[in-house]
Amino acid sequence: MTVDTHCPYCSLQCGMTLAPAADGGAPDVLERTAFDVNRGALCGKGRTAPAVLDSAARLTRPLVRDDPAAPLRPATWPDALDRVATGLARARDGHGADAVGVFGGGGLTNEKAYALGKFARVVLGTSQIDYNGRFCMSSAAAAGTRAFGLDRGLPFPLADIPRTGCVVLVGANPAETMPPALRYFTELRRSGGTLIVVDPRRTRTAEQADLHLAPRPGTDLALALGLLHLVIAEGRTDDAYIAARTTGWPAARAAAMAHWPELVERITGVPVPQLREAVALFCDPEAAMVLTARGPEQHAKGTDTVGAWIDLCLATGRPGRPYSGYGCLTGQGNGQGGREHGQKADQLPGYRLLTDPAARAHVAAVWGVDPGTLPGPGRSAYELLDALGAPGPDGVRALLLMGSNPVVSAPRAAHVEQRLRSLDFLAVADVVLSETAALADVVLPVAQWAEETGTLTNLEGRVLLRRRAVDPPPGVRGDLDVLRGLAERLAPARAPGFPVAAEEVFAELRRASAGGKADYSGITYARIEAEDGVFWPCPEGGEPVPRMFLDRFATPDGRARFAGVQHRPAAEETDAEYPVWLTTGRVLAQYQSGAQTRRVGELTAAAPGPYVQLHPELAARVGAAEGDPVAVVSRRGRAVAPARITAAIRADTVFMPFHWPGAGRVNTVTNPALDPVSRMPEFKVCAVRVEPAGE
Ligand code: SF4
Repeated sequence: MTVDTHCPYCSLQCGMTLAPAADGGAPDVLERTAFDVNRGALCGKGRTAPAVLDSAARLTRPLVRDDPAAPLRPATWPDALDRVATGLARARDGHGADAVGVFGGGGLTNEKAYALGKFARVVLGTSQIDYNGRFCMSSAAAAGTRAFGLDRGLPFPLADIPRTGCVVLVGANPAETMPPALRYFTELRRSGGTLIVVDPRRTRTAEQADLHLAPRPGTDLALALGLLHLVIAEGRTDDAYIAARTTGWPAARAAAMAHWPELVERITGVPVPQLREAVALFCDPEAAMVLTARGPEQHAKGTDTVGAWIDLCLATGRPGRPYSGYGCLTGQGNGQGGREHGQKADQLPGYRLLTDPAARAHVAAVWGVDPGTLPGPGRSAYELLDALGAPGPDGVRALLLMGSNPVVSAPRAAHVEQRLRSLDFLAVADVVLSETAALADVVLPVAQWAEETGTLTNLEGRVLLRRRAVDPPPGVRGDLDVLRGLAERLAPARAPGFPVAAEEVFAELRRASAGGKADYSGITYARIEAEDGVFWPCPEGGEPVPRMFLDRFATPDGRARFAGVQHRPAAEETDAEYPVWLTTGRVLAQYQSGAQTRRVGELTAAAPGPYVQLHPELAARVGAAEGDPVAVVSRRGRAVAPARITAAIRADTVFMPFHWPGAGRVNTVTNPALDPVSRMPEFKVCAVRVEPAGE
């Protein structure tokens, strides 16, 4: 029997059909053309995803460590769960509830994210929960909330892209990160629209653009202000829209006027004629969009940078108009849903805030607890990782981690690894022995995407159902089963509140989200299947909302708010010792920390390891030839990888992909400086020197 489902990886959540393999192994992937987001197209990651289901690296038995120096050894599930419960309880009883941390992931289904947040707050009573989605799109979420009163990655369907007149793609490389999405931009250009790509590298996406702007890393904010300056100077603002639908224009106008074109050229390196061309392309058509991704977001000023791009959209009357506006291309598979249902340090289900008494009362009633027992907001992801094992009352002594591999994916990763090693107790639930799981006291082998049912919310805010297509291997349990088992041990009276069936969890999630910004109460599994996805908000008895803000924004007065922000330098500037910018990102054949994709032979053959992309001028300066090992060194550490020399990158910048551990782990080098609002680390820029590695 075939099963219609979705890819386990990125936020495009491509539809696919799985069919039993003739040899009884992992299922075959068939085209699912009826799902309109990808119309059957898949990238290599999605096409090969079943290979992870029966990978030789698959964990099928719990592993435990008898003492910190002992190797991991197989154990039974009851023994492993007893040890996790004991490890978490010992930290809680000895040092208080906040001595226990929980770290989730943007790949977890909505049901798991919901159950994990509830488990942390109701069973453990800890405020110390956050997730790796904090590293992914939290700056865009913060900027969207500030401007529009609500954060849904794309407030319109992807299908609107070919119907607009111009798209400015800022720091996004869908040609490598989500290739099936490229067709929307191809169709846009075929229908007469234009594509502007902003990226310090001439990526595969930039190669297809009508105009490529290549600013210095860390200067996107100045670029947005410079474009807005020209919009004002050329009389292209939409004054009627500004008056009717926005607040805060004077401050935004003043910030832009302080960034005249020649100054912006000096800051960004983008020539003034290109700035003028971009303004003409963006302003001439009736409809236009700005879409951001990790490029402008992963900065210590990411929220303000996205805010400046939103200001450009608002000044030209784009958001809330047909085929126009601002959107964020979310990265992780459930990056959107993962941040809506309670695994984020400051949030409760339905995108409610933990600091809102009414929100606490509503969710506490659904959970059957006293609102006063719910902890307050906790630390953000990097701050939580940084507090692991710290002595004193503020330290986190035990950690439960699900669906994340921070040893590879966190900034200043060698430090994070050391913090993980210093914990009294670490439990990791994963499908393979990731670099983080290898440090754990207990490893719990859990089911994967095609082995269990659950919902995910794609980058459009469309809630999708991923159906179980195959049985998990014997010895493997689902994450919901794990939480139930731990609840039975730690708080037996609360255990019935942790059902194992995903649809039962979803029914409770619907009630918890009812009336919230991300209202899922009108969404059911049956409706998702009947409609091939349901856009939130969708209240009980209501209709989905594919296009938001057409009448009003989700702010108290219904108006969008200009950010009115000033440019400022990166947290770490280049200097004589560290004269080069480092920026990081993904490649086509690998995904995130690579825990899954590095186990797929076809993907590993296509992208076997890290590299340092550098310009011929820089290569000549450091004396590196193609393939030579070069070291990229920052104040935090050193990563070594072969040189890949190309004129497709600025001469003052190097790029490294972040999917690998070991000597080429670029996150050893990256800067954990945090955005003050989103608490997102500055992955996208830091100061380094490049030197021959001689290894
Ligand atoms: Fe999967 Fe994303 Fe590739 Fe689609 S683009 S197949 S969702 S990884």
